[in-house]
Amino acid sequence: MDSFFLEDWFEGIGEKKYRAAQVLRWLYMHNVSSFEEMTNLGKNMRQKLDSNFFINRLKRVETEKSKDGSVKYLFGLEDGCLIESVLIPEKERFTLCISSQVGCAMGCKFCMTGKSGFKRNLTQGEIVSQVRDTIFDMGESGSRLTNIVFMGMGEPLANYENVKAALTILTDFEYGFKFSNRKITISTSGIVPNLLKLGQDTKVNPAISLNAADEATRSALMPVNDKYSIKDLLQACVEYRMKKGRRITFEYILIQGVNDSIEDARKLVKLLRPLRTKVNLIPFNPHEGSEFARPSAKAVEDFHKIIVKSGLTAIVRHSKGDDISAACGQLGAKNTESQE
Ligand code: SAH
Ligand code: SF4
Repeated sequence: MDSFFLEDWFEGIGEKKYRAAQVLRWLYMHNVSSFEEMTNLGKNMRQKLDSNFFINRLKRVETEKSKDGSVKYLFGLEDGCLIESVLIPEKERFTLCISSQVGCAMGCKFCMTGKSGFKRNLTQGEIVSQVRDTIFDMGESGSRLTNIVFMGMGEPLANYENVKAALTILTDFEYGFKFSNRKITISTSGIVPNLLKLGQDTKVNPAISLNAADEATRSALMPVNDKYSIKDLLQACVEYRMKKGRRITFEYILIQGVNDSIEDARKLVKLLRPLRTKVNLIPFNPHEGSEFARPSAKAVEDFHKIIVKSGLTAIVRHSKGDDISAACGQLGAKNTESQE
């Protein structure tokens, strides 16, 4: 729900516009579940709101806790579709990994979500609700949820307008969730025009799922590369209006025998050195029906060493929650529709 819509509504019933901001503050800052709780509004007005709108939460279909403390929420949407969000505890804070679509149309060969196909875009409300309802569920520790990553199901830049609208609510300081732009990351397979738009419209961080160091390998893994090549993508990254001193993150899944050789590592260095980048190396997470395998620990280490020696920052990101299929590329599991 945005402020303009509500402002118009209040004006339409002869009320002041500022009432809209009051309602939104209750919804997002105080995370209330009913109009009854909005105590700075008169009883009449609360009743009017109640007969015109409803506040609902995402239906929690399942909650799974991993050994490492990550929690995977399976949410049921109004139309029966299912999406997943993963809450990841870090030392002092929490990161929430959220979905932007039901399924994904990008068809990356290594990704479980990609294999399940595309159902639909999430609405602005469904994107925001993953955050709102998780904070609600966390109770006291809700304030320690400081970071959001769009790395769940879906390609956020293929649902650009709704993602952008959700970001407005998540980062708004007057009535929204007050997340710092620096602590929100949008991971993308590389839809170049929308990446550039994101740079113009917002201050959040992009993370680029590169996953290969040459055009042929990337095209074989990620069909999007036929439309937006590595060359175009890196050019867009240079153009991306990053705040001074900020670096774009690149994600690189290491897949045995596909993109994990020393030669690949050298090619990657050559590509990324001119950019101020951070590289996340993610050993492939196996999932049912996938033809790929994770490289040995030694191969991962050798690859990592070459990147680091070149002067680039690189970390090996061991996925959290892989015992409950909450790790990257394991989301969106077998079903995107509830069995009801
Ligand atoms: N669509 C966006 C965001 C969701 S995917 C994107 O592609 O960036 C989030 C991350 O999970 C991406 O970096 C993707 O490369 C990674 N990923 C997908 N499948 C994976 C797998 N099987 N193992 C490890 N990482 C995977
Ligand atoms: Fe979609 Fe990202 Fe999976 Fe590719 S890696 S299929 S873009 S979710």
